[in-house]
Amino acid sequence: MALYKAEGIVLRRRILGESDRIVTIFARNYGKISAVAKGARKPKSRLGGRTEPFIHANYMLAEGRNLDIITQAELIDGLPAVRSDLYLTAMATYFAELVDNFTEDREAHDDIFELLWAVLRLLEGGAGPDLIARIFEVRLMSLLGYRPQLERCARCSAMVGSAWRFDVSIGGLLCRECQPSAAHMVAVSADAVRLMRLLLITDIGQLVRADVPEGLLTEIERVMGAFIDYRSEGRIRSREFLMQAREEGKIKEVG
Ligand SMILES: [Zn+2]
Repeated sequence: MALYKAEGIVLRRRILGESDRIVTIFARNYGKISAVAKGARKPKSRLGGRTEPFIHANYMLAEGRNLDIITQAELIDGLPAVRSDLYLTAMATYFAELVDNFTEDREAHDDIFELLWAVLRLLEGGAGPDLIARIFEVRLMSLLGYRPQLERCARCSAMVGSAWRFDVSIGGLLCRECQPSAAHMVAVSADAVRLMRLLLITDIGQLVRADVPEGLLTEIERVMGAFIDYRSEGRIRSREFLMQAREEGKIKEVG
């Protein structure tokens, strides 16, 4: 059996048999790898803690006939703060699901790997999760080839003017002339569009220090949510969990 080493982030895990796991790892140079972690669900397993979601580790893998097998894992970062907070866990789960949903097995996407790792580190460091999520959404879609078109009309290239609508089927703003014939539009304010442009191009470290009004983030969440749903083949399940965790957080804050 040929062995190989892969630096990756766990996107998800499933139960296999009595005590094993199938782990989906998003790895540098490889893209998505599904591999078996034998005995990972046994209490004393060394692999157990290193095959949990969002773990960043160096994995040693053996090529298998169907699935590869994880033989060793050397932890790089376990994201303890994310793991101990319900909302941050929900957010990281959402990021992982988006990457899982939009990438194919064994298709390397090092740019997406870097983006995912950057946003997970920011969550761990205590930056505002909702702002990070919006950065992640617009940049992930761009890296996948769906960069939101926010300068001119996405259909006819005219100047957009006011009364802005984002068409999720085209992936950009529409001018007034093009709006009547469009079927998948989401209204968006000029300020939200301005912020989306910044989210695409500004250095992430600089962005997360900015004070951004919550209302604009909510608007962008609606636009990007509809855009992602339109492009996604399956439902994004973790979004419901995320909404729930947010509500619970708000109740806690008030109480
Ligand atoms: Zn137009």
